[in-house]
Amino acid sequence: MANKRDYYEVLGVEKGADEATIKKAYRQLAKKYHPDVNPGDKSAEEKFKEVNEAYQVLSNPEKRAQYDQFGHDGPQAGFGGGYGDFSGFGGFGGFEDIFSSVFGGGFGGFGGGTRRNGPIQGDDLRADITISFEEAALGCEKEIKLVKDEECPTCHGTGAKPGVKVDTCPNCQGTGQERVVSNTPFGRIQNVRTCSRCRGAGKIITEPCDKCHGRGKVRVSKRRTVKVPAGIDNGQVMTIHGEGEPGEQGGAPGNLLIVVNVKPHALFKRDGYDLYIDMPLTFTQAALGAKLDVPTLGKPVPYDFPEGTQPGQMFRIRGAGIQFLRDKDRKGDLYVTAMVEIPKKLTKQQRELLRQFEDTATNSQYEKKKSFLDTLKGLFR
Ligand SMILES: [Zn+2]
Ligand SMILES: [Zn+2]
Repeated sequence: MANKRDYYEVLGVEKGADEATIKKAYRQLAKKYHPDVNPGDKSAEEKFKEVNEAYQVLSNPEKRAQYDQFGHDGPQAGFGGGYGDFSGFGGFGGFEDIFSSVFGGGFGGFGGGTRRNGPIQGDDLRADITISFEEAALGCEKEIKLVKDEECPTCHGTGAKPGVKVDTCPNCQGTGQERVVSNTPFGRIQNVRTCSRCRGAGKIITEPCDKCHGRGKVRVSKRRTVKVPAGIDNGQVMTIHGEGEPGEQGGAPGNLLIVVNVKPHALFKRDGYDLYIDMPLTFTQAALGAKLDVPTLGKPVPYDFPEGTQPGQMFRIRGAGIQFLRDKDRKGDLYVTAMVEIPKKLTKQQRELLRQFEDTATNSQYEKKKSFLDTLKGLFR
């Protein structure tokens, strides 16, 4: 404690500096000497402690007044005794704040350093399948071809020729990590990242396995049957857990993501679990009413179109849609649009019959015509 530097000198501020100036100086220095920025650097750690101690005193008006009057040998048995020992930085408030504001996300921002030879999860694999409209609605099984990594059967994943010794990586001494110094606006920053020589394995293979050339993995082509559940829709993704690329160093395998493409249907359109179909009706069927078989994805359903069915009128057949993906007991509905068709190329007899019909028809039988004429009358009255 004999050679203790002056607190103002430590923070690089004038004796009469105001609170804001002291705080600013402290924040800058704390960033510069923070142990996470200078891993393993003893002198930086010492500086960091010194800066903290100085700030603890100078940021507190009472302590600062005492320090101004008595210096390091003040009546409070020396400030050093109370503040000199920062055995752990975690307990000191304010650092998270500084770093999260500077680096946008806590200490994790220094990245790479936390994973030391740890398990690494395998990558996800993606496959696309194209299925018919009916297959999507009713479910199906499809075979897919996957090209993926598998543990090498010769070296069982070590990458080394069987029976040959594996050396510890000289670059990282087996830790799988290396330190990298980079220049940043805050000065030189030392980062810890995965060793570039051994890629984090901590081992160097002197004689690689003949089969996998040291990768420990081999590329294999596999066929696999996929069960596609009923109700799946275009663009949906099925996730098959654990069927992706294998993990490394004991990590879990990735997932297999299957993107489902559904071909359009010639008759049906789909919206969620509901189906839509355009159903042609002759104009006499529409006028008289008719019982017609409406197609569904299963058996056709007989449906009574009422007398006076209008063009474009929509009818709902409950439960004739698509089975819900996660609820086998629920189905969507089928919406049927009446496409009323007017006949062409009439025979002489048909024309005669229709004229007879027209002579007997009244405006009250034609809702739209009646309403149109009533409106017209009102306008020109
Ligand atoms: Zn191998
Ligand atoms: Zn290494």
